[in-house]
Amino acid sequence: MKASVTRKGAVLLGKYVACDAHEDSRSLRIVTHAHADHMGGLHQSLRNCEIVVMTAATRDLINVMKGSRFLKRGNSQVVEYNKTMCFKDEQITLYKVGHILGSAQVLVEDIEGTRILYTGDFRIADTPVIQSDILVIEATYGSPWRTRNFANEAESRLVSLVEEGLEQGPVYVFGYHGKLQEVMQILHEARIRTPFVMPERILQITRVHQKHGRRIHRPLFLTKHELQSTLQEETPFVAFYHMSWRRKIDPNNLQVCVSGWEFNVPCRQIGEREYVVALSDHSDFKGLLEYVRQSKPELVITDNYRAGDAYTLAKQIRTELGIEARPLPT
Ligand SMILES: [Zn+2]
Repeated sequence: MKASVTRKGAVLLGKYVACDAHEDSRSLRIVTHAHADHMGGLHQSLRNCEIVVMTAATRDLINVMKGSRFLKRGNSQVVEYNKTMCFKDEQITLYKVGHILGSAQVLVEDIEGTRILYTGDFRIADTPVIQSDILVIEATYGSPWRTRNFANEAESRLVSLVEEGLEQGPVYVFGYHGKLQEVMQILHEARIRTPFVMPERILQITRVHQKHGRRIHRPLFLTKHELQSTLQEETPFVAFYHMSWRRKIDPNNLQVCVSGWEFNVPCRQIGEREYVVALSDHSDFKGLLEYVRQSKPELVITDNYRAGDAYTLAKQIRTELGIEARPLPT
């Protein structure tokens, strides 16, 4: 078979490429983006593969997350979007996807002209659909009940929630890397000009986003002590923290979590001063089916290694679109 997903999560395309986890038999490793579940065995790949490929933004994010010496252990190379590279008798192209900064989908064209595509993680709204013969697709929201029936309302609800909160004092936003910076950009575009404060790691990641063209209002790194001394108590600010910090912050302040796992309403109150806003960097169920429909493959493999509903998605692709589909690994 020309595409597969291994038990360790490597997405194998054509004869040479392994995406998003290490596979001993493959000489070309591709990192589609800098989320942890797509960087499996990267140190092994750097040691053993002929070449490890990613976009420039993904390289910069990995340098922040793992230290600037990490990628130097192997032959890592940056590839631009839409530029085809040849590897032995196959051609490889990375295309943009809407997910986090630097994310890519991967097309491998083999010697017989078969187009083998892996979407990586994506959000359909800002992702160009690539035609394929064999398609490997993510399955995070692969069930019909993982459908959002609201469009852009979540962004406007987020903005009004933060604006209202700032009238009372500081607002804390919790989310994962990438999505936090998306929130910063949304608030910046909504002309919220109070200081944005964040821990050092998030500041470094934010600077990578600025370097790659994201417009984000002057991010400030402040220690807890600096926070207390520089900002007077009444001075409002928006603080950005990784999701793992959610229970470690004073519950008297307004807290906003951004999460993709919300399907019924764009914004939900979960505590006295705590809200969840439905902001996702993945396609919902309808978006996944739409990608398959437009890509027109003969065979679809749904990624059953990463979290999601790969079995249901494969079944729905067969019944709703009449296209052969199976989850892997089984
Ligand atoms: Zn991801």
